[in-house]
Amino acid sequence: MYDVTIVGGGPTGFINALGLAQAGVKVRLVEAGPHIINSPRAMVYHWSVLEGLDRLGILAEAEGIGFRKQDYTYLVHRTGERIPYSLEVLEGHTPYPYNLHLGQHRLAEIAMARLGQLPNAEISFNARLTALRQDADGVTLSIDTPSGPEEVRSAWVIGADGAGSAVRQLLGLDFEGMTWPERFVATNVHYDFERHGYARSTLLIDDTYGAVIAKIDNEGLWRCTYMEDGALPADTFMDRLPDFYREILPGADDYRVDMATPYRMHQRSASRYRVGRVVLAGDAAHATNPTGGLGLTSGLFDSYVLYPALAAIVLEQADDAVLDRYSDERRAMFVDRASPQASANKQVIFHASGGGAMLEQTLAMLRRLSTDDDFRLDRLMFTRTLESAPLLDRSLAVLPS
Ligand SMILES: Cc1cc2nc3c(=O)[nH]c(=O)nc-3n(C[C@H](O)[C@H](O)[C@H](O)COP(=O)(O)OP(=O)(O)OC[C@H]3O[C@@H](n4cnc5c(N)ncnc54)[C@H](O)[C@@H]3O)c2cc1C
Repeated sequence: MYDVTIVGGGPTGFINALGLAQAGVKVRLVEAGPHIINSPRAMVYHWSVLEGLDRLGILAEAEGIGFRKQDYTYLVHRTGERIPYSLEVLEGHTPYPYNLHLGQHRLAEIAMARLGQLPNAEISFNARLTALRQDADGVTLSIDTPSGPEEVRSAWVIGADGAGSAVRQLLGLDFEGMTWPERFVATNVHYDFERHGYARSTLLIDDTYGAVIAKIDNEGLWRCTYMEDGALPADTFMDRLPDFYREILPGADDYRVDMATPYRMHQRSASRYRVGRVVLAGDAAHATNPTGGLGLTSGLFDSYVLYPALAAIVLEQADDAVLDRYSDERRAMFVDRASPQASANKQVIFHASGGGAMLEQTLAMLRRLSTDDDFRLDRLMFTRTLESAPLLDRSLAVLPS
């Protein structure tokens, strides 16, 4: 019998597994894939999530593989106007006045390597959850493995199996919200965008050629995520990719696409994040369009309060009612704050440039962001407001010792 079984070996699953294992909890992580998935997804970690990585002891290693970043630029595609802004204004307000750039699979790999050093953590790849049933004492999970079906018994379960979560579906929970009509195409590209005047992070504002362009590493790999009409056939997105690149990198014929993935985008949340002995975290609990990088940010903030709470329950230092609070608070944080902001971010980059008053209003706000330190500081503080206070610091949750 495991104390906690985590379904899903993405960043959310591995971060929770590491936090629980470090607390002495007996953890099993099951991942359907043969290894940690490397797809072009999260690569920007906002300054506000870095303290949590530091608490887990993995920030220095993550920064060694990725890099710290303070400068960002909005670029209006039609006019060429550049609106730079810097995170320097955070200095003195946090020990982490910068964002971290790092592929999300690298973060999961760092956490996995640390787990490998702990005797109370077990990781299984090629292990897909197919069913679960719970009773008063625990949860029985049915797992498909290459050597046949396996039953795993666990006191608690975290569903961290992404937006298509089997855990969420097996619990019968709705994934409430909407799906955007557009498609995002995320590409990892070998090309020196700086040669074409792009900053290391450029938010390209345009209704047709809007994109988020950022340097991923120091070996010449960049991320360019753009949007196309969702009515176009998904399987031919690669045929249309050169047209997009021709527009944003005129004359460049030597870029090399390393990876490209089309995504449908959603603003959705599970109706609850806890059912009995099973809790949801990360994309399994909520999904957002990625503009502004609030998806994994929310997943990390879920994790930073979930694993200490669950560890305390397992170690009999807290009542499991704390998980109801987890469910209520994290859901509200996503639905009321993260999701609306992500929609607003998408509007600025991909839907503001139709001209007229709306564009001018948007640009006025961005120019102010560039030049007004107080305004910028206030805006940069937003992602910290997505964090929940530790659930265990509040007397209600903690049993008398
Ligand atoms: C283009 C793009 C860019 C993004 N950029 C950012 C960014 O810069 N910053 C940011 O904060 N967020 C960003 N995001 C969002 C971020 O990628 C997600 O929030 C993040 O992947 C969530 O991690 P997760 O571990 O919860 O889920 P996932 O990464 O989806 O991992 C889920 C895992 O569960 C496994 N699994 C699924 N079903 C089962 C099963 N039945 N049994 C066992 N295992 C299973 C899957 O194989 C997978 O490995 C971006 C997203 C996209 C699409």
